[in-house]
Amino acid sequence: MLYGIFSDIHGNVQALEAVLRSMESRKVERRICLGDIVGYGVNPNECAALVKAHSDVCLLGNHDNVALKREVYTDFNIYAKAAMEWTWQHLSDETKEYLRSLQYIMEEGNFTFVHSSPVSPADWHYIADLDGALEAFGYFSTPSCFIGHTHSPVLVATNKKDPYEEIPVISDGPLYRPKSNEKILVNVGSVGQPRDRDNRACWCLADSDGSWIEFVRTEYDIDRTQDAMRKEGLPLFLVERLGLGR
Ligand code: ZN
Repeated sequence: MLYGIFSDIHGNVQALEAVLRSMESRKVERRICLGDIVGYGVNPNECAALVKAHSDVCLLGNHDNVALKREVYTDFNIYAKAAMEWTWQHLSDETKEYLRSLQYIMEEGNFTFVHSSPVSPADWHYIADLDGALEAFGYFSTPSCFIGHTHSPVLVATNKKDPYEEIPVISDGPLYRPKSNEKILVNVGSVGQPRDRDNRACWCLADSDGSWIEFVRTEYDIDRTQDAMRKEGLPLFLVERLGLGR
């Protein structure tokens, strides 16, 4: 079965619609959302409705949780805080109810899915370097684990028994075919706010048998998203970073 795994939409409905169309054309059979549906962009309710309608599973992200006011945003920068203030004023009851229903982590077949890290998922650790990735390998038992959160697509593959035994493989794709003795940690990148200097939406295609994983980039109408953000008076930094992909 073909999986489409996507994360970090952040209220960017143009990017989400483009990714959903792209999944359709790639014949995706099961759609998994890794969270952060809201925050930054100006269409949180539209994004939540689309994810609810089109994803088979959706997990909770840290911005979703802050949007629900279930935790405070101490680690947000001033731009994220400004966008969250906007989000609080515009979140519908229906969206809140949907976000409240999301769970932190789940396993399905060969895959584990979680927003930030399998290491204590509710603490929102950032896996930002190889040490962090190697630590995470001790916290999932399936052959592969898919995460989001940093908005930077990358894949790390290691020896199944002991990730510290041999030098891990690091790949940014586009296609990776795991060897039979490998365990894989995949950051699927971000739909609505890519930060790897490629401004196209990013998501992952994977076969349920674990034989291959592909990073897919999808173009969308960035100008339209930026215009809508300007109209709502969101910080210019957030508007401009979408065009730069960082
Ligand atoms: Zn995010």
